[in-house]
Amino acid sequence: MGKPTGFMTITRQTPRDIPVTDRIRNWDEFHLPMSEDELKNQGARCMDCGVPFCHSGDLLAGMARGCPVHNLIPEWNDLVYRGQWREALARLLKTNNFPEFTGRVCPAPCEGSCVLGIIEPPVTIKNIECTIIDKGFEEGWVDVEIPQGRTGKKVAVVGSGPAGLAAATQLNTAGHTVTVFERADRIGGLLMYGIPNMKLDKKVVDRRTNLMFEAGIKFVTNTEVGKNYPAEKLLKEFDAAVLCAGATKPRDLPIPGRELKGISFAVDFLQANTKSLLDKTSAPNFISAEGKHVIVIGGGDTGTDCVGTSIRHGARSVVQLEILPKPPLERALDNPWPQWPKVYKMDYGQEEAAELFGADPRRYLVTAKRFIGNQQGQIKSIEIVSVKWEKNDKGQFIPKEIPGTEEVLPADLVLLAMGFLGPEDTLLSALKLEKDPRSNVKAEYGKYATNVPKVFAAGDMRRGQSLVVWAINEGRGAAKAVDQFLMGESSLPE
Ligand SMILES: Cc1cc2nc3c(=O)[nH]c(=O)nc-3n(C[C@H](O)[C@H](O)[C@H](O)COP(=O)(O)OP(=O)(O)OC[C@H]3O[C@@H](n4cnc5c(N)ncnc54)[C@H](O)[C@@H]3O)c2cc1C
Ligand code: SF4
Repeated sequence: MGKPTGFMTITRQTPRDIPVTDRIRNWDEFHLPMSEDELKNQGARCMDCGVPFCHSGDLLAGMARGCPVHNLIPEWNDLVYRGQWREALARLLKTNNFPEFTGRVCPAPCEGSCVLGIIEPPVTIKNIECTIIDKGFEEGWVDVEIPQGRTGKKVAVVGSGPAGLAAATQLNTAGHTVTVFERADRIGGLLMYGIPNMKLDKKVVDRRTNLMFEAGIKFVTNTEVGKNYPAEKLLKEFDAAVLCAGATKPRDLPIPGRELKGISFAVDFLQANTKSLLDKTSAPNFISAEGKHVIVIGGGDTGTDCVGTSIRHGARSVVQLEILPKPPLERALDNPWPQWPKVYKMDYGQEEAAELFGADPRRYLVTAKRFIGNQQGQIKSIEIVSVKWEKNDKGQFIPKEIPGTEEVLPADLVLLAMGFLGPEDTLLSALKLEKDPRSNVKAEYGKYATNVPKVFAAGDMRRGQSLVVWAINEGRGAAKAVDQFLMGESSLPE
């Protein structure tokens, strides 16, 4: 433990951001770096408590508690406090293949369960993690991980999101010959074509995948397994396969007017935006929010990314609809530490909307009733209604419309960001994979084996739409399971 009294004398500090009016003019990341001295001080706030909860990731009350990849947080906090950055990097890379992704986009369940958080703001763990790896790259300390020998076993990884990339890295380290299949034209899954640039610069994704390529991993893009690459061929040509194809089926909103032009799924909007930026030309399916009244349906992270993206396009107004109530400012009694704190916060998109349009764009406890169009079949407005949550006769809470609260809002573009319904069917039916009751691929957590011999599944495809850090955890776990299956034993860490 660095400084025994650090937590009493030093206050939490997070990075300053580029002012809203400047950052919305471009697609760059907007957190400003903190100095090494500032970060050493932040590391000194870690109490090295007897039983740290920050690194013991699991599920509590259905939400992540602590770090799902079990980062050795108190150890690297101490090393950062002492200025031993290279040792801190070595500790960080023991548990996390891609801290440059989690350090940027993880919601940091570690901080929600930091023991200091019981009485004071928690240690700024995520930012320290990001700085350790960014410094590692700057200093040239992040090496290509070339395996010492090859086993002669061939493994296919389907999908190149964080789960697939983590599985591929681990399997390659174990000496297997790994081929990653990706149906998109670029590697990275939702890291590339979901999470927008201002949260995760795509050069950061390419930098990592280039290292993986140099380490001997083969990437095959524009190839959809089960469609333009037959599933039988996969089973024939490889000794094992890890399916990490995500949970990409979006939830629709089948209310009157859904067929109107100008209503789109959030990920289609975000994907086409990133592709246009990277290709430096408008993608055929690019949707502009410029000069439009934008309604985002869904108050989660995907919705927030739509708000930030619409603002950068130059939207005329942005409203984000949320069916749930506004969370409290402090933890409620039924949401005690170390659970994930369900408290009100403004994310970057809402901060930007508040500064430009004068208020948080979220409207709570409302639902869309119908879309209203003009004679050309283009959406022009949306009718919404307030709801209250009541128990039905089965004892489940359900939203009930409050009569007389209907309201019509202008809408030129509606983005549906209401979550996902599990993996798409093509690959599942091509391989005859069993599904679990939530329509994800059936495979037990920790084992990852599906009903089809030598086929494993991990990440969102197995657990449902989740977090990058869980995808990395599952990719690592599945790699160990595959290594054990191929070799009879495995020394890979989970
Ligand atoms: C808009 C958005 C923002 C998000 N923001 C955050 C965030 O800030 N922080 C966070 O932690 N999480 C965030 N998430 C969730 C996170 O991105 C996912 O949980 C994570 O990417 C899941 O990783 P994965 O590898 O399982 O799947 P994915 O990242 O979904 O990757 C699956 C890949 O498989 C490919 N594929 C599918 N079928 C086939 C096939 N048959 N053949 C070949 N390839 C195929 C797909 O093209 C895709 O590239 C966000 C999600 C969305 C949608
Ligand atoms: S990966 Fe996420 S949960 Fe783990 S230490 Fe980093 S920010 Fe915290």
